Amino acid sequence: MIQRNDPCWCGSGKKYKKCHENFDRKLTALKLRGKQVPPHRLIKNEEDLKWIREAGKINTAVLDLVGEKIHAGMTTDEIDQLVYNYTIEHGATPAPLGYEGYPKSCCTSINDQICHGIPDDTVLKEGDIVNVDCTTIYHGHYADASRMYCIGEVASNAKKLVDVTKECLEAGIAAVQPWGNVGDIGAAIQTIAHDNGYSVVTDFCGHGVGNGFHEDPYIHHVGRKGTGMVLAPGMVFTIEPMINEGVPSLFIDADNDWTSYTDDGKLSAQWEKTLLVTEDGVEIITG
Ligand SMILES: [Zn+2]
Repeated sequence: MIQRNDPCWCGSGKKYKKCHENFDRKLTALKLRGKQVPPHRLIKNEEDLKWIREAGKINTAVLDLVGEKIHAGMTTDEIDQLVYNYTIEHGATPAPLGYEGYPKSCCTSINDQICHGIPDDTVLKEGDIVNVDCTTIYHGHYADASRMYCIGEVASNAKKLVDVTKECLEAGIAAVQPWGNVGDIGAAIQTIAHDNGYSVVTDFCGHGVGNGFHEDPYIHHVGRKGTGMVLAPGMVFTIEPMINEGVPSLFIDADNDWTSYTDDGKLSAQWEKTLLVTEDGVEIITG
């Protein structure tokens, strides 16, 4: 049993009574009421957060750079080179490169590709919608985000899907509250998606991130308010809704075992940010 004058379990160096004692009281009370509470290993300390925020700054700058440079006629490999070069030049590492055999530094998912499109010699063309997903490692800490990019003029249905998916992410972020629940996020996202006649992909989720690439908990993009793991201050995770124009079901490319496509060939869009639950709300770690 940790004593009140012992150093806190979070690694802050502060006395327990001045750090996470009240936090633990709250967790215990919630647990007694049958709530699923996060284990201590999911609670980041200030030292972790310092590096996670720095990783977030580089990650945001990478996606800004992609936004400046992306154009019709460019290959997805050229996007990958931009991501790799900028990341390395800033003392960071692209997390996807070599992850479980993944060959590139980012994912580039075009039109009916839901996620995990692998950069190659595919040429972007006017009217494409493209998700670029980057995770940055800095000083051993991770930040993860993705954005949609419209190539030139895109069809009105494509533009609407991209915009509504962004709204879904924003609603998911707005639903994050300290001592709220993971289910609040999915509930907010699915309401907007379904109101617009879209479906939510459930085969992929958001996830804890920060001290590793993929940590607990899963952040489902559908859900029921008040259910799922409690969101405690110090938790860092992604919200990354994948919203489909048609059916939510998908298949994985048999040749590369990575890229997922909508089953019906209709469009899919995704936006992603990394968030920190704070004492009084939420802090956006990646732009
Ligand atoms: Zn503490």
